[in-house]
Amino acid sequence: MKSNKQKRGEIDAKRRKADEWLRLQAQKAAEQRRRRDYKIALARGEVAVVTSALAPSNSYSIPDFVERGTYRPEPFVCKDCGVAEVWTPLQQKWWYETAKGDVFTKAVRCRACRTKDRARRSAARRVHLEGLARKSKPTAT
Ligand SMILES: [Zn+2]
Repeated sequence: MKSNKQKRGEIDAKRRKADEWLRLQAQKAAEQRRRRDYKIALARGEVAVVTSALAPSNSYSIPDFVERGTYRPEPFVCKDCGVAEVWTPLQQKWWYETAKGDVFTKAVRCRACRTKDRARRSAARRVHLEGLARKSKPTAT
């Protein structure tokens, strides 16, 4: 005859086994769902993320596109002129994987404002460098 303690132990072991099995099933289902969503996303024209090409990040959180595994069109409103534009999957891939942009940065300016901003910055740099050159030039006496 088994003691109550023995019976209790067997019941607990059975329960742990059942819990573990349920956990595994849930994990498998989640993995299947993730794989199916990924295929659908690619079929929809989203572009696969190459995680190894991304800039390293110290953050513990994972950006949406890394979690999902694809870049999807991201609509945004330009912070300078307020125009609505879409950041395309290929532009995102270039930004994160080729330009090694920070994985938590997103597009904030439309194409026109980006071009304008770049021109403004390079003009400012030129003026600055010209100023430095003028200062360092020995004065003729
Ligand atoms: Zn703009």
